[in-house]
Amino acid sequence: MNTPLTYHDTRDLTDATATFTDVVVKGIADGGGLFVPSEIPSLSSDEIIGLVKTPYWERAATVFEHFGVDLPSAHIATLMQAAYGSQWDDERIAPVIEVCPGFHVLELWHGPTSAFKDMALQCMPLTFSAAVDLAWQRGTLAEDYLILVATSGDTGKAALEGFADREHTKIVVFYPAGGVSDLQYKQMVTQRGENLAVFGVRGNFDDCQSAVKAAFSDEDFTRELAERHRLRLSSANSINWGRLLPQIAYYVSAYADMVASGGVKAGQCINACVPTGNFGNILAAYYAREMGVPIGRLVCASNENAVLADFIATGCYDISERGFVTTPSPSMDILVSSNLERLLYHLAGAGKVREWMAALASEKRFEVDPDTFDAIRSLFVGGSVNNDGSLATIRQVFAEDGYLLDPHTAVAWAVAKKTSGDAPMLIVSTAHWAKFGADVLKALTDVPYANALPAVYDGLTGVQLLEKVRELTGGRCAPIPAPLAGLDAAKIRFAEVVDTGRESVEDALRGWLET
Ligand SMILES: *Cc1c(COP(=O)(O)O)cnc(C)c1O
Repeated sequence: MNTPLTYHDTRDLTDATATFTDVVVKGIADGGGLFVPSEIPSLSSDEIIGLVKTPYWERAATVFEHFGVDLPSAHIATLMQAAYGSQWDDERIAPVIEVCPGFHVLELWHGPTSAFKDMALQCMPLTFSAAVDLAWQRGTLAEDYLILVATSGDTGKAALEGFADREHTKIVVFYPAGGVSDLQYKQMVTQRGENLAVFGVRGNFDDCQSAVKAAFSDEDFTRELAERHRLRLSSANSINWGRLLPQIAYYVSAYADMVASGGVKAGQCINACVPTGNFGNILAAYYAREMGVPIGRLVCASNENAVLADFIATGCYDISERGFVTTPSPSMDILVSSNLERLLYHLAGAGKVREWMAALASEKRFEVDPDTFDAIRSLFVGGSVNNDGSLATIRQVFAEDGYLLDPHTAVAWAVAKKTSGDAPMLIVSTAHWAKFGADVLKALTDVPYANALPAVYDGLTGVQLLEKVRELTGGRCAPIPAPLAGLDAAKIRFAEVVDTGRESVEDALRGWLET
């Protein structure tokens, strides 16, 4: 067993005695703060270079060991082998490809759902169920967990795939019926596994999310679940530390790979450009940098919802007059970036965090003090690109470099190219192009984002659109991943659509639990 590291909360409202397994099960601290490690461990240059010849699971295990995860080393190794094993379509798990001189793409989409959420969600359910098991053994817990997820598309699928048939857990996903793409719909409703279900909700994503949130805070319902089914509710959402820790590993891994390929000399600085939404991925890069991975600038790439790029430029986080824009990179369409609170804690401390989070809640804005602003500017650069700019980037990079980007990665690419610097740039790629095939098709056929695809594509399924992309590129792009290619033929397991509102969601859950 490692010496367990303890966790504080960002608002300093709870005791700092929680360990990794405690915070994974708990998710969020009492009082609303997020869990952060009480210290950031360091990884020497020799240790990083020592990982050059090791498989990805061992690199991830090394990061877990350094963070003092309170599970025996042999258990950590088993979990990491299961998380980063044969369900990935590339044995390197997160390969780095030099697409043009000095620009290295870190491909985070070789997992079972073809998007980067798999990096965390193939791992976190395993540590979650190990943590619940430990709590059962210690006698501090006597229930299993029911994970409820409201999704606008991608997170739901990655969570289903991660929690499928995991011990001590069940998972139910609610999505807006008619509000997700054909491909996203089929990915979710064909999910295998005995401990899960998927329901459409008549309404939009906000309706879906409010209904699920209302079920969470319904005490009669939570009591009923505990008494009748021995279940507690959890959301396993992206602010859970159990999702952040595995993300640090791919930055360590990427640096080791860049040294191995000769892209950088051992110890030489790189910059990292991350397409950002909830600030989890780029925060993992920050932790990797603090551990000692030679990263110079952290480049925060935003789409038209550029609240973060503006924050880095001005020190003011302001959503008081900001509308929500639809973009071809929907997983970055976010106004409140929850994980930013962790960065603010590390730079400014809990007192400031309490003050700023209170201002954000009441006035929908806060402004950091000059010292914190300087610290942010010394670490981060922000940049944004608009919708048509990101589609033009897909077209251009394919024409010039023969590499097909998804719309999220295209935002990072465009911002990386605008950010001058002489260090090699690591561009973080968060989705396979095929996850967002319809917009990639718009990009390749030069259709503005606001327009519909040409009529020749009307009536085609999501998979057939992907085949059109393959034809247009002459096959010179990453192949369509097998789990996506087979979707039109896969059996639909979950066809039920329920009304919006708390009661319908609760009835759906009751009905499913009784069968
Ligand atoms: C979730 C997601 C992002 C944003 O990542 P954060 O960690 O929330 O900043 C970017 N791209 C894709 C494809 C995603 O699924």
